[in-house]
Amino acid sequence: MKKDDCIFCKIAAGEIPSRKVYEDDEILAFHDIQPVAPVHFLMIPKDHVASLAETGPEHAPVLGRILSLAGRLAREQGSPDGFRVIVNTGRVGRQDVYHLHVHIIGGPDRLPRMIAPE
Ligand code: 5GP
Ligand code: ZN
Repeated sequence: MKKDDCIFCKIAAGEIPSRKVYEDDEILAFHDIQPVAPVHFLMIPKDHVASLAETGPEHAPVLGRILSLAGRLAREQGSPDGFRVIVNTGRVGRQDVYHLHVHIIGGPDRLPRMIAPE
């Protein structure tokens, strides 16, 4: 179900343009507008769910599909030797867009270590 004021629902509906990586009935993958590495795209369920903290067993199939598709898409996008998966969640996780999204981050070279101290 679409949520009217949600930017990623609008992207999923094609109302806001995005650079698409992959699409099927349930899932959209598109390049992040502010990439932090040579490969940086987002994978979302098309149906609105605010965050990983709001998911339940009914979301398990689409979450599984997203994760099991990530490797193939990452390879296709130029990250052949692995990548990082980040799901920023809620206030503590510094989530900015409240439509669940999985960051896939990589490239040809090694990424910086996980979390730098502020
Ligand atoms: P969060 O902090 O919620 O995990 O990350 C949200 C991500 O969405 C950020 O990396 C940001 O660059 C990306 N983003 C925000 N608005 C847009 C948009 O309109 N289009 C695209 N492609 N990415 C967006
Ligand atoms: Zn949404």
